[in-house]
Amino acid sequence: MSEVRPPLPGVDRLDDLQFTNRFTTDLPADENPVNHVRQVHGAAFSRVRPTPVAAPRTLAVAREVAELLGLSEELYRSSSFAQVLGGNEVPVGADPYAMCYGGHQFGSWAGQLGDGRAIALGEVRDRAGGHQTLQLKGAGPTPYSRTADGRAVLRSSLREFLCSEAMHHLGVPTTRALSLVATGEPVVRDMLYDGNPRPEPGAVVCRVAPSFVRFGTFQLPAARGDTALLRRLVEATLAHDFAHLTGSFEERLAGMLDEVVARSAELVAEWMRVGFVHGVLNTDNLSILGLTIDYGPYGWLENFDPGWTPNTTDAGGRRYRYGAQPQIVQWNLLQLAQAFATVVTDVAPLQAALDTYVDRYQDHFRWLTVERLGWGRPLAGDDERIQGLFSALTSSEIDQVLFFRDLARVDVDAAVAPDLADPAAVDAVLAPLSAAWYRPEEIVGDVAAGIAVWLADWAGRVRVGGLPHDERRRRMDRCNPRFVLRNYLAQEAIDAVEAGDVGLLHELHEVLRRPYDEQPGKERFAARRPDWARHRAGCSMLSCSS
Ligand code: AMP
Ligand code: MG
Repeated sequence: MSEVRPPLPGVDRLDDLQFTNRFTTDLPADENPVNHVRQVHGAAFSRVRPTPVAAPRTLAVAREVAELLGLSEELYRSSSFAQVLGGNEVPVGADPYAMCYGGHQFGSWAGQLGDGRAIALGEVRDRAGGHQTLQLKGAGPTPYSRTADGRAVLRSSLREFLCSEAMHHLGVPTTRALSLVATGEPVVRDMLYDGNPRPEPGAVVCRVAPSFVRFGTFQLPAARGDTALLRRLVEATLAHDFAHLTGSFEERLAGMLDEVVARSAELVAEWMRVGFVHGVLNTDNLSILGLTIDYGPYGWLENFDPGWTPNTTDAGGRRYRYGAQPQIVQWNLLQLAQAFATVVTDVAPLQAALDTYVDRYQDHFRWLTVERLGWGRPLAGDDERIQGLFSALTSSEIDQVLFFRDLARVDVDAAVAPDLADPAAVDAVLAPLSAAWYRPEEIVGDVAAGIAVWLADWAGRVRVGGLPHDERRRRMDRCNPRFVLRNYLAQEAIDAVEAGDVGLLHELHEVLRRPYDEQPGKERFAARRPDWARHRAGCSMLSCSS
């Protein structure tokens, strides 16, 4: 029987939060208390306090996250909230620290990385009986800051705040964001690395997750041959986050890897569904819980282009392009397994867990796509039909979010057999999808016919699936969002906030809380990228400079 807990008291002051701090209690700390840049050995973290800022001001709060933590509205609207979430005050019971980890960056081992600008305040109990770590990103230098300043600019912080909440409401596993706080201090950045540094407004996001442990957390002690620390990190992660696993150390470790493989495979299938491109899938940016983590130069696919990456730093090799994400996550899992392999006698169970990745990814992706297409459940031949769709979607610039969403509105009976020789008949069948065309002038002739042929096949398959039309549309609408955080919308919100107006940020945040609902009056937030945004920095091109 599960333990019966008394309800936690409502939190009207951050000093009343109940800190549990398991990470810092159960794992070895860096013995050097001085906050200067260095290599940290034999420790999972360094204690460090946020550096105060000039004038913290709360720009946005995610009320569901506040509610999860039990914070009252009065509290999150107060100036003392901004003081704590901006890093000026540390609540009673907190034990602030920066985590030590390593990672592969763009395929090469980078050694120690660590939280260079994120400082966790500590871990608290949430209303659902779970644990949440509150982490301030942009809170100042740590022993892991290397040559950088430990700060974050408003534009990247706003993007992280909005996107993590948008992803949550889309149903994609993610770290959450409690708050976005302006620091009142400038941060100097060379946004496009073109020799034009300029001061920008700074901000701090409070990220919230049950754990911020990354693949790279285990890789660093493995690479250094520090098996004692690696074992402790594994034991603590098993105890904190995989407590349901039983058996010997090696059995539980293999069980954990098996779950990480499953969760990661499902996560990347969800990214592919919603059109999210992470942009920097280095092994330090992969969560042991299968959460989307570290929102940097991410982007949302506009026209369906598997080769697209938002990250200008990756423009050459495009390692982290949309279509490569499934293989990249698999490669990252292999690196994690290799770290785990240094503390086991038998690697076969680890290999067996890794070997499940491709099937798990493909099964989940197929299941999701079949649901998006209104086909009921997967049947033989569906993979070829799905490939046919992806070819049709690349025959011109076609907005994949609008295409899938509006597909539910195509008349299945009319789509079955248009006369391909009759352009008017083809146009009539394609009309419900026309909002998705970036270049309507291209949707003629063979391109239009190709889409119509696929649609006819889709409609036939819908009939075979046999879902009643109303139910089918309802189910399609539940997994094909109307609203995603389009790159240009995030940029518009940034421009407005930089000009002193938070209205658009709040409106967009509100719209993204219900991405699957039609929201009358909010149609503009569902529109395909306007032409001005095609080549504008921040909309189609993002660097790691944040
Ligand atoms: P990311 O690409 O955001 O995952 O960052 C890679 C590494 O650089 C991590 O160790 C970060 O903590 C660190 N880092 C990124 N930006 C900064 C910054 N402004 N100050 C200090 N460290 C940073
Ligand atoms: Mg990172």
